[in-house]
Amino acid sequence: MILTTSPFLLYSDGKGNIFEDTTLLATGRSGWDAVPIDLIDWMELPDGGSLYELPERKAIGIDLKTGDMRLCEKGWAVAAFIPPAHTGFYLAAYESTKQAPTLPLFCYTAAGWFNNKFYVPAIRIEKDIRQESSGYDQQKINIGTEKLLNAYPQNRLVQHLMNNCCQTYHCPAARNFSLGRWECPIPVSPACNANCLGCISFQPQEETITSTQDRLTFKPRAEEIVEFTVPHLETAPFPVVSFGQGCEGEPLLMWETIRDSILEIRKHTTKGSININTNGSNPEAVKVLCETGLNSIRVSTNSVRKNIYEAYYRPNNYSFEALAECIKVVRSFGGWASINYFVFPGMTDSLEEYEALRKFILDTDLNMIQWRNFNIDPDWYLGKIGVTETGECMGVNKLLQNIRNEFPHLKFGYFNPPIERIKGNFELDFAN
Ligand code: SF4
Repeated sequence: MILTTSPFLLYSDGKGNIFEDTTLLATGRSGWDAVPIDLIDWMELPDGGSLYELPERKAIGIDLKTGDMRLCEKGWAVAAFIPPAHTGFYLAAYESTKQAPTLPLFCYTAAGWFNNKFYVPAIRIEKDIRQESSGYDQQKINIGTEKLLNAYPQNRLVQHLMNNCCQTYHCPAARNFSLGRWECPIPVSPACNANCLGCISFQPQEETITSTQDRLTFKPRAEEIVEFTVPHLETAPFPVVSFGQGCEGEPLLMWETIRDSILEIRKHTTKGSININTNGSNPEAVKVLCETGLNSIRVSTNSVRKNIYEAYYRPNNYSFEALAECIKVVRSFGGWASINYFVFPGMTDSLEEYEALRKFILDTDLNMIQWRNFNIDPDWYLGKIGVTETGECMGVNKLLQNIRNEFPHLKFGYFNPPIERIKGNFELDFAN
């Protein structure tokens, strides 16, 4: 449903209570600027979404009477965390006070109130239902956890996945593993060769933010990996097993263990897809993994511009060019290649980034873009990478349309597709 008028701005009383300000219309943020949001860009806040109050930040709205932008003085600004499978078009627009604390590593999408409902400028970009909040039954997850812990008492990785990832961090992938379905996570690396500002598994002591989970502390053995992944590939619907998770460093630093695991897995089963989520730092290692049987790769990036990438990833011993090389290697073996593209309104949809993205897609023969919301404090991010001016922007919705029109073969989504979508009908229906 296209709205007939913009939603009202939201504010909080700082005690967790949220109100609409009927004198102000909600705006969005693009880079450092507050901007009006087109009516067509709004959708109801999807199930599984949540709202945040942003301390020491005053929301920017459009005055209904004057049409001018002004601050809401009634309370703190409010933002939405939109659930997986949805991509946000604009960030929450606010002005920070000097006392404003750095926000934790979540995404801060704009939000508004209309007809007794919360609205966000976003789109459902992925039809796969693997992380629908309504699909998680905690009782069944607890039973599945118990079953796996009893089935693999000596397996350190299963212990980690069930006790930490599933039961503590509530990782959607680990919960799906406990339910014996879809994508199963395989964290393997306690170390990383990058130093991402917004790393979710490791934050330096001196930083004011904390990582959302602790990094793996041991190096799994190939036999520990094979022990639970073969049964998962054999029995789960639309099975995918994925190296490279949020609770570890860079999996390619463990490429020998991954090589040995894939070799052994494929001796026992040909089912499903074996995927790696990576920072794309080592094309030679990726070549070995493809020769061994890797089916797909997802390379993470905040930008396809070298200077913006390296300012955020701060790579130790590799350069931005390695990312494209890794993708080309996988494509040369007929494998599936995606980028895990951290969408930041005002950066991702800038004309400079758009031109770089068009070139990257053509250069790499990429199969898919996973348009992921960037989980980071906007002021902190732009400040840290030294961006004071983002240049002309077209809007994330327009960017999606342009890329879709120019590259009709390129798939859009949010998750690593199973082999049934890679080799078969990409539009297959998951619900049935
Ligand atoms: S590549 Fe991943 S693990 Fe390494 S620093 Fe970046 S976010 Fe952290």
